[in-house]
Amino acid sequence: MKKEEQTIDKIILSFKEWLEGKHSKGTNSTRVARVRRIAKYYNILEEYSCDHCESLIYSLTYTKGDKVDGNEPKTDIVINGDYISGLNSLKQALEEFVSFLDDIGYVSPAKHNKKTIFIGGFEEFKRYVGPKCRNEVNAFCKKERESHNGVCEYCGQKAQLQSAHVTDRPIIIKKILNEHFFQKSENNYEVDLELFFDLFRQEHTPIRDKIFFLCKKCHNELDNKKTITIQDIKNKRGY
Ligand SMILES: [Zn+2]
Repeated sequence: MKKEEQTIDKIILSFKEWLEGKHSKGTNSTRVARVRRIAKYYNILEEYSCDHCESLIYSLTYTKGDKVDGNEPKTDIVINGDYISGLNSLKQALEEFVSFLDDIGYVSPAKHNKKTIFIGGFEEFKRYVGPKCRNEVNAFCKKERESHNGVCEYCGQKAQLQSAHVTDRPIIIKKILNEHFFQKSENNYEVDLELFFDLFRQEHTPIRDKIFFLCKKCHNELDNKKTITIQDIKNKRGY
């Protein structure tokens, strides 16, 4: 067995343990089997490191509309039977596997071989890398955000939800830089960006404790007007 296969095999075993008690035994073992099936076709861990499996999830998406329009499935995985429900079950299993990887804060060891290095001060880092940090947060919070069904955690109104940090993003960024990256001279960091984003993701786990999901107005009142506080939102949650 190749090293790659050993790694995914081990991780799928801990996924199996992680699933215990979440669904019925039967459901758990089909989910595990489905992830194994996907792993035969794709390098799930690499896909996860690359874009959080977003494009892989997209390629497993096949809807009634696609079928009506005569679109071919976007994946090479062969389904015996109905492609819509078959791919949908694979996708569901993969999404749960992604939640599991989020939960354990999975970081690919191989990734650190190819480095992209930023050299500069904190302000420059914020300016150039900050926007990607914001997008990353949105991407890896997507599931948790969707679980709120568009209801603001503070005012309870239906809205397009935004992700609000318990700790401000720049503080998180600064903390990671100071703890993990060597300063060549004063306020001059040398940052391996891949590693930075892994650490950045880990800082946001578990998402529930790090991010609030608010409507635009409440988010603004928390961040800019300071008329509501983090404690107010925690009180709404009951802790
Ligand atoms: Zn609100």
